[in-house]
Amino acid sequence: MSDSESVKESKKFVHNCTKCGSCCEKWSEIPIYIEDLQKWIADGTIHPVLPFLQIQETPPAYVRLIMKKPATNEEDPNPSGCPLYDYKNKICNIYSSMPLYCASYPLAYNGEKFYLVDRDSPGLGNGIMTAETLESARERARNQFEAVSSSIAILPLLYTMIISSIMQKSQEAMASLSDEDQQQLEELLSKSKDDQETEDETDSKEDNQETEDETDSQDEWEDIDDEENTEKENTEKENTEKEE
Ligand code: SF4
Repeated sequence: MSDSESVKESKKFVHNCTKCGSCCEKWSEIPIYIEDLQKWIADGTIHPVLPFLQIQETPPAYVRLIMKKPATNEEDPNPSGCPLYDYKNKICNIYSSMPLYCASYPLAYNGEKFYLVDRDSPGLGNGIMTAETLESARERARNQFEAVSSSIAILPLLYTMIISSIMQKSQEAMASLSDEDQQQLEELLSKSKDDQETEDETDSKEDNQETEDETDSQDEWEDIDDEENTEKENTEKENTEKEE
């Protein structure tokens, strides 16, 4: 097949990264799948990625793994930009082993058809795309779709295992504490519980006061309504008497 025939066949989707960095600079979280972890463990990329991995609970029953920059202050809990993007050189620090989500972007697959996750990607319509490069893009989108499905099945289990392991570790740590340290810890926990209860009580009192104030003001309105009604009744009575 000649190049021109390949391009003709792939005319529906043309995308070539412009290396402008706009995607890597704007995303505040990048979905990560079990397959990404397996690949990174095998090729050693896991080390630079590990500090930025987070498990995110998405109620009611799903957990997902993401990579994101840590929040630097309370006002900006979701700082934008990928933690692995090299802003100076405009390149991904793990380019040859980038996450499936990034590799497939902006194409995605839902098990039936391919679609665009971002119609504003600067790479859309850029350059040419042969049938071979189109097939590679489709393959990456299919891989991402399969990775989503397997992660949905495995992540909750992994999450439970991690939580159980953390709980077991803390129980072991507790057991290894001296009696004196255990007592100090219990005192600290009990103090923090008391503080929380006092805070809750204060909040509840404030809420009750607010409700009382609201009720009082409602009563005032009711009184006014009653007065108005009585006045109206009297006027009507007077008018009827005059007519008679
Ligand atoms: S992992 Fe690489 S390609 Fe993906 S958003 Fe981060 S810098 Fe960009």
